[in-house]
Amino acid sequence: MQVAIDGPAGAGKSTIAKRIASERGYIYVDTGAMYRAMALYLIRRGIEADDTAGIEAACEDADISIRYINGEQNVILNGENVSGLIRTQEVSNMASASSVNGKVREKLVDLQRKLASETDVVMDGRDIGTVVLPDAGVKIYLTASVNVRAKRRYDELTARGESADLAVIEAEIKERDERDMTRKISPLKKADDAVTVDTSDMNIEEVVKVIDEIINEAAGK
Ligand code: C5P
Repeated sequence: MQVAIDGPAGAGKSTIAKRIASERGYIYVDTGAMYRAMALYLIRRGIEADDTAGIEAACEDADISIRYINGEQNVILNGENVSGLIRTQEVSNMASASSVNGKVREKLVDLQRKLASETDVVMDGRDIGTVVLPDAGVKIYLTASVNVRAKRRYDELTARGESADLAVIEAEIKERDERDMTRKISPLKKADDAVTVDTSDMNIEEVVKVIDEIINEAAGK
């Protein structure tokens, strides 16, 4: 079984995908983490987001792989586990900017398809239902309003004791949405055969229930 969950930042994709995967014994593949690891590599090397040649050369040097530790996905960059370093705002913005590059996408899509060919997966991202796994048995387009998504992110950061500014977060989310949806290669969009789930007024349990029903139906249960 392949479950593809696409949608904008902050719609709840990873929370929901993790729950579904653990309940069903599927592997959860967070594709955003791979783009983030690539972005971290670029930041460390001082390569700018608009330096196409630099980014393409970096694709040759950055070895990105995935390891599961206690059931959790960890992302490994040239042998270093960088999972704890890729959730910053700087990395988010660089990931969004550098993921427009065709070479970056080609490299990471290959890795994603390889993982999905080995086992049952729940994979989340922007282009999973449209490009990475066009034959996925279940495709979900998970979305929510911009203010709800910004507020969730704000709550997440402040709960971790980090300072946050709601207006700045909202502006950055809008900017990332715009870039993810309008880029030439693999833009974020709902696959024709995906089911839209708007989580603005739903809690996690409600979303999990709706998606569980969709998967059960697809699996003929
Ligand atoms: O999902 P997450 O916020 O971790 O993704 C970070 C960035 O990586 C996104 O803003 C998007 O530009 C890019 N991305 C992508 N395709 C995916 C997953 C993430 O372009 N499948």
